[in-house]
Amino acid sequence: MINIKDNLDKIKAQIRQACQLSKRLPLLASSSELSSPVTLLAVSKTKPTSLIEQAYQAGQRDFGENYLQEAVEKVEQLSHLPNLIWHFIGPIQSNKTKQIANNFSWVHSVDREKIALRLNQHLKDDKGHNTPLNVCLQVNISNEESKSGVRVKQIFELAEVVNNCDKLNLRGLMAIPEKNAPDSCYEQMQQIFTQLKSQYPSVDTLSLGMSNDLDKAVAHGSTMVRIGTAIFGARENKV
Ligand SMILES: *Cc1c(COP(=O)(O)O)cnc(C)c1O
Repeated sequence: MINIKDNLDKIKAQIRQACQLSKRLPLLASSSELSSPVTLLAVSKTKPTSLIEQAYQAGQRDFGENYLQEAVEKVEQLSHLPNLIWHFIGPIQSNKTKQIANNFSWVHSVDREKIALRLNQHLKDDKGHNTPLNVCLQVNISNEESKSGVRVKQIFELAEVVNNCDKLNLRGLMAIPEKNAPDSCYEQMQQIFTQLKSQYPSVDTLSLGMSNDLDKAVAHGSTMVRIGTAIFGARENKV
């Protein structure tokens, strides 16, 4: 049987070691002494709520989902767990923005103006909703034709749009580098992130790194890694 707590402990140790190697944490500090500069986002897509609850019992609070229908059911089923933070990390269709605005604290995959404006409008319409939605702009860093994400040239224009939305909180950037992407791709993300941070005080998040490229991402300044397989095991279907 899969042991979620063991897997979380291993990933946290790996993050700590990657931070130490890149001098983001002093050597020898134990996990209890220093909070990590990297947040662990547990990607639970296709996995049952029973496994999410196990992770929660082990202290995990941030969870990422890709498929809206599936995600909304899980949010509902787990609404009894306090302080659980849901992140939407999948591609966004514009007719789904209302459900995203209603169910998530974070969205990592905003890649065009229309999506940002629609999310903002839903939050304005919903008078009971007081907390802003945390937004990362998804960057198509490997310039893949078929992939979602804003092109590098358009990042700052989109950032300005999000920054001007009163119900959105611009937190940073997200990317999914192609498999075996060169270091230059990670360096470029780090550079753009630094530049964005210098322009917008609200920016503090570089959402970069998955099970296979965690070390490289942390070495290049990632502040949030999105880990699925290494916590919950391989997925049977899609992605
Ligand atoms: C599925 C997914 C992940 C997790 O990937 P693993 O390789 O299973 O760690 C991270 N980010 C996004 C956007 C994903 O779709």
